[in-house]
Amino acid sequence: MSMSQEVPMLPDNFDREGFISGLREKHAHILLPSVAMSVDNGWLRLIAAILGEIETCLESHGCLGLARVVRIKEKLAAMRVYVEPISAAVHLPKQLEIELTDIRDKAEQQSMQTCEVCGDPAKVGNYDGCYQTLCRYHRHERLAWLAAGGPGLPSGFAAAHADEIEQAISEYLRTGDLPEQWTARFDHLTGIRHRQAISCAKMSISQIAAERARGDQND
Ligand SMILES: [Zn+2]
Repeated sequence: MSMSQEVPMLPDNFDREGFISGLREKHAHILLPSVAMSVDNGWLRLIAAILGEIETCLESHGCLGLARVVRIKEKLAAMRVYVEPISAAVHLPKQLEIELTDIRDKAEQQSMQTCEVCGDPAKVGNYDGCYQTLCRYHRHERLAWLAAGGPGLPSGFAAAHADEIEQAISEYLRTGDLPEQWTARFDHLTGIRHRQAISCAKMSISQIAAERARGDQND
């Protein structure tokens, strides 16, 4: 039942989408298809471990199918996994609730020692107001990014990837949000892997879109 203490660094060609769809297939009993994996790659193995533990735990209480994972996210540099009964009418056994809380607490502790980008041993840090758990290498990379001006699209990126930017903007104007697939594509295009960098890039896109929408109204 215990999670591995050693989490080796992910390979450069790590297949995020493949890994996630594997998890969805393997844990379809407990993972709602709508649950987004709103964390960087370094925590995906922790997610794989916790999903396995939750499923085993539910099974051992004869409760598989009665509860499911409804949200996975990062909050204040820790990974949070939320499990809920399938309906308000379902009451889980007290002992099961206790065990599920233990599993979640343990994963949360583990995430605060695991680089969210690469999975190496890490510490929680404050990066310009954004708390994140990063290893020494990614801490330096992040600090260099912030020192270089940080927020916004990398210089020259918008011109070099005009088509993708156009697509993102029209998506934003249509739905008021940027889809997760686009964020992943942006991640790939820029090589910026940090959630903070991605959210700054999203902000740039939404600013460009908002300016454009205003321009259209004035025409
Ligand atoms: Zn790292």
